[in-house]
Order: sequence, then structure tokens, then C-alpha cells
Amino acid sequence: MTDFEATIIGAGVVGLSIARELSKNGKSVLVIEKNKSFGEENSSRNSGVIHSGIYYNPNTFKDKLCAKGSLSLYSYAEERKINFIKCGKLIVACNSHEKNRLIKIKKNADRNKVKVDLLSKKDVEKLEPNLNVKDALFSENSGIIDVHGLMINFITDIENKGGIINFNSKFSFSKNNESYISFYVNDDCSFKIKTKVLINCAGLNSQIIAKSIDGIDKRKIPKIRFVKGNYMSMTGSSPFKKLIYPTPQKDGLGIHSTINLQGNTIFGPDTIEVDDINFKVTETIEEKFKRSISKYWPDVKDRKLNLDYCGIRPKTGTNDFIFMCKKINQKVLILNLFGIESPGLTSCIEIGRYVKKLINQESL
Ligand SMILES: Cc1cc2nc3c(=O)[nH]c(=O)nc-3n(C[C@H](O)[C@H](O)[C@H](O)COP(=O)(O)OP(=O)(O)OC[C@H]3O[C@@H](n4cnc5c(N)ncnc54)[C@H](O)[C@@H]3O)c2cc1C
Repeated sequence: MTDFEATIIGAGVVGLSIARELSKNGKSVLVIEKNKSFGEENSSRNSGVIHSGIYYNPNTFKDKLCAKGSLSLYSYAEERKINFIKCGKLIVACNSHEKNRLIKIKKNADRNKVKVDLLSKKDVEKLEPNLNVKDALFSENSGIIDVHGLMINFITDIENKGGIINFNSKFSFSKNNESYISFYVNDDCSFKIKTKVLINCAGLNSQIIAKSIDGIDKRKIPKIRFVKGNYMSMTGSSPFKKLIYPTPQKDGLGIHSTINLQGNTIFGPDTIEVDDINFKVTETIEEKFKRSISKYWPDVKDRKLNLDYCGIRPKTGTNDFIFMCKKINQKVLILNLFGIESPGLTSCIEIGRYVKKLINQESL
């Protein structure tokens, strides 16, 4: 049996960021990942957008960690020469009802001290002549980042501090003891590991894992809802230079337009509630996408859209990140992360710092 001070389940961008923070202090850190490589689930199935923190309700983790997280992420990307573009983003209104929503979003952004400007139709046309909208909010600090490059840098940091990342290693709980938790990493239960701190950062599987661990009050585990988000890419030249978002909708930020670092235009994600985890793109979405995009860009009707990829949002009832801490026998700590959907990528460095603080507070 091998011993670690901290074990993180899940090598997505958030799990890796937490491992990076914890390994900085010389803690012995292990990351286990069931897939053959890092970031194969939601961390590589998102819009890759660095959000500036304008939407989220006051006193939520999303509000606190996103605005700060965006600054931390830009600064880390600059320091490590990770590819990013601070291209700016327009949230567009096509009618007066949507304009009222923009005004509300601006008030929220002002409260959170995040810079956004309300633009008239004329000003919007100067920035993006192909857009057909009434008004827009402009967030100059929004951008896109190379998420794969980000995760590679996190891995380098972890390994430079002696941390270990094990792939093809599926978590399976064994038992709690006086001073450690033990678990297996193989389905055949042949390899057992002991850890003092266990951090469940398994994204879509966080609830299943929490339910399997003794000592956790199962009634406190928040219910999960899977909401798939499909993406379509567009052939040919891009009509926009900036990120274009409609006003937010239930379960998502609306079918927006982003340009990825390869210069391709990507539209999405939509919102489809699903029962299970299956990363197969829904095939019948083109008409819906064109209808939605044409509200701000009518010319989409003449362009070819291709099915591309999809992610699945781990939704809970709170619409916020959830950190559920459980101390067992005063010596062992289990920390479950639930609902780490958007803006989890933007917030990843600050989530890592927050988790480190939580663990230090428990002073194990
Ligand atoms: C459609 C969509 C668009 C998004 N767009 C943005 C955006 O533009 N900007 C932004 O800031 N955020 C965005 N997000 C959110 C962001 O992608 C996530 O918050 C982030 O990737 C979560 O990272 P994670 O490490 O928590 O989870 P994941 O990336 O899902 O990683 C969890 C890992 O745990 C592993 N795992 C699961 N079970 C086990 C087990 N039993 N044993 C071992 N390993 C296990 C999985 O294999 C996986 O690799 C988006 C999300 C979605 C779904």
C-alpha cells in the first residue's frame, strides 16, 4: 500500500489546478484519472472562453472565483507562453426586452467591478459590421485560451514538485481508517492506496463517487442533472472578430459564436437535458442552430454548418460551484466538488487556491 498526503480524483483542468496548488507546498500529491490521458471529458469539450465575470449572482462562488480567476489565468498564460487571445466579447440584444436584460447584466458587472460598456447599434456596427442587432454589451477582457496547453503546464508544475499522475486508474473506495482513507485504482482491486486528504474532482461522476464513500451523509449530496451542449463548426471565412453571445438562457449562455485558436468559427453550445453520459453529438440540430444564430446573423442561412463536438454540464439546483467538506476521525478529510460547470475553466486557478485554503483551515 502506498501513502499520499493528498489524492485528487480526476485529471481535468480543475483537478490538475488543485493538484498543482497542493504540490507547491511539498505535499505528496497523487492524481488518478480513469481515462488514458488528461482532460478528455468536459475540459476539452467547452468553448475555451475566459469569461470576465459579469453574469453571476452576488455572494456565489462563481461570482467570486470567475472575475479573479480570469486575471490569474491571463497572467499564468502570459508567464508560461500559453496561447490565448483577448479578443473581447459582445453580448447582443435583438429587441427591447433583451436590451433590458443587458442593462441588468451591466449593473451586475459594475457591482463586481468588471468593465463592460453598453454600445448602440452604430457602435456595434463599427466593431462587427456583419451583426444585425439593436444594442450590445462589450466586454473587452473576455478571450479564448489553449486549454490543452494550460493543462500541460499544470502537469509540468505538478511533476516538477514530485506529484504523480496516474492514468487508466479508476477510483474505487475501500475503507476509512483512524488516520487515512484507502482506495483501489484498478477494477480488479489489486492495487490499494492510502491518503489523508481525498479530493473528489470527478466532474460528471462526482456524485456517484461521493455516494460510494463511507462517512458521507448521502442526503447532503446534491442531485445532478446532465445538460448536453453540442457545437457546430462553420466552413469558410468567419463573419466576426469577437466572441458573439446572445442574452443568457435557461441552463446556458445561448448559442454563441467563437473563433478557436486555429481560426475556425464554432457555434454552440445548445442545451439538451440527457439521462446518461455519452459524448456523441446530437445529429438533428442544424435547423435549431441556424434559427438561433440568424437572430443576430441572418446570413447564416446560406452557410454550411458541420456537427463538431459536445460537452455535458453537471448541473445542480444551486447554479453555483459546491465544495462539500467532510472530516472523518479529526485526521482525514474528504472534499467533494459538485456542479463545476462554466465558468470552471476560467476559475480553475482560483478554485485551486480556494481548495488549498479550505484544507489548511482544517489544519490536518
Ligand atoms: C458545453 C460546455 C461549455 C463550457 N464552456 C466554458 C467556457 O467557455 N469557459 C469556462 O470557463 N468554462 C466552460 N465550461 C466549464 C468547464 O469546461 C468545466 O468547468 C471544467 O472543464 C471542469 O473541469 P473538471 O476538472 O472539474 O472536470 P472534467 O474535465 O470533467 O474532469 C473530470 C475528470 O474526472 C475523471 N473521472 C471521473 N470519474 C473518475 C473515477 N471514478 N476515477 C478516476 N477518474 C475519474 C474523468 O475521466 C475526467 O477526466 C464549459 C462546460 C461545458 C460542458
